[in-house]
Amino acid sequence: MQETDLSNQATVLASATDAIIHAEKIEKYYAQPSENRIQVISATDLSIVPGEILALLGPSGSGKSTMLRMLTGLSRPSAGEVYWHGKPISQAEINVSIVFQSFALFPWLTVLENVEAPLQARGVAPDERRERSMRMLDTVGLDGFEGAYPKELSGGMKQRVGFARALVVEPEVLFMDEPFSALDVLTAENLRSELLELWANKNMPTRAVFIVTHNIEEAVLLADRIIVLGRNPGHIRTDFKVQLPQPRDRKSEGFTQLVDYIYKVLTRPDVSPDEAPDHQHPVSKARDQRQMKYQMLPHARPGGVAGLLELLLDKGGCDDFYRMADDLAFEIDDLLPIVDAAQLLGFLKVEEGDAVITPAGTEFANSEILRQKELFRDAAVNNVLLLRQITRALEMKSDHTIPEEFFLDLLDEQFSEEESQRQMETAVAWGRYAELFDFDAARRRFMLPDAQGEEIASGGDEE
Ligand code: ADP
Ligand code: MG
Repeated sequence: MQETDLSNQATVLASATDAIIHAEKIEKYYAQPSENRIQVISATDLSIVPGEILALLGPSGSGKSTMLRMLTGLSRPSAGEVYWHGKPISQAEINVSIVFQSFALFPWLTVLENVEAPLQARGVAPDERRERSMRMLDTVGLDGFEGAYPKELSGGMKQRVGFARALVVEPEVLFMDEPFSALDVLTAENLRSELLELWANKNMPTRAVFIVTHNIEEAVLLADRIIVLGRNPGHIRTDFKVQLPQPRDRKSEGFTQLVDYIYKVLTRPDVSPDEAPDHQHPVSKARDQRQMKYQMLPHARPGGVAGLLELLLDKGGCDDFYRMADDLAFEIDDLLPIVDAAQLLGFLKVEEGDAVITPAGTEFANSEILRQKELFRDAAVNNVLLLRQITRALEMKSDHTIPEEFFLDLLDEQFSEEESQRQMETAVAWGRYAELFDFDAARRRFMLPDAQGEEIASGGDEE
């Protein structure tokens, strides 16, 4: 243990100088049709050092792909700089490959020609091209398929071609953006372990691997180091080394502990990286002190929240979050918004990777529908700023109606246009369910339920 501790410290110290890729205070903004620009990544430092598989984990929309694009030189940061062996990446001769979720093969080329394509682009002579590509196809288990076209292959085989094409150029860093997400569970599992085998046996010429994923278990299975991104704007929540020996056992205590910890980080914005389980060493302390006025409303339906709480109550009011996702065959991306919503409303707490129902949650889950609406209404007004504001504004205004745009303008300060719209949709769904207000979709106006009779006398049926 001591030896690894020392080497870890050495890696941390050396990371800025020995890094293959080093990002310094990189940020990304996107222009908006309105005068605001939206920040997708806030100032972030990140190094990729030799000898490690680094996983970048985060919910969708947190900026993982954006980060990958900046680190590979595909996209320029709006501020800050990315260095390749100490040289600004735009001036450096970089050697990286990217494997995409969507395979991105040329459909008009054979398997062999697809793998040869990047070598051809680099001006490698035909004989050598062929020889290296055939060898790589052999390595990834595709010998015999060189003459096939992508459409004749299964998803797993296509992704093998993706790997062969990425590795054939002998990249110093192999980047992957959710490479297993489009595959069925078994195929993904196979490919993951084969990749690990290639890496462990040094059968791939690559010095570092950077994998983007939203799958916690995938990160814990593969990575030597895990960085968790938070969103809005994207920023590093925690960055630590995984000390579990390879091959890793999903059922081992260390494994499930780490998965639980990461669930906790993802579901609770206030968890500090110091709380990582034993032996998982924080690489850097993440600064997470941005103050956001509006909470991000999770895109979950009130019915989903009710369903989750009822399930939880069935299990005695408390269940391991990770097992629950597994039992329900839910992906983290599906379950997280519902858990987030239940937490935001005060119906649920996440502790040590367990979802624990609160007294308010228990009452909600046990109540009849009308009482549920009442409880939801109180919880929403008390806990959700946007809903409180809409309700107050409607109460104050003499005609008890107000245009959606008024609130969109407020949200626009903080969210992208697209996200503001989605925030509004969720607020409308929650507000209607709770009978806090109604929304006239044709006129894009909120109104108090009382005013509804007069207001939509000429309009269609709401709901
Ligand atoms: P992830 O890969 O984690 O799902 P992305 O990096 O794709 O996240 O996107 C992060 C955020 O940036 C999202 O909110 C997305 O809508 C926004 N975004 C990505 N690309 C653009 C773009 N070209 N213009 C505007 N916004 C963008
Ligand atoms: Mg992405």
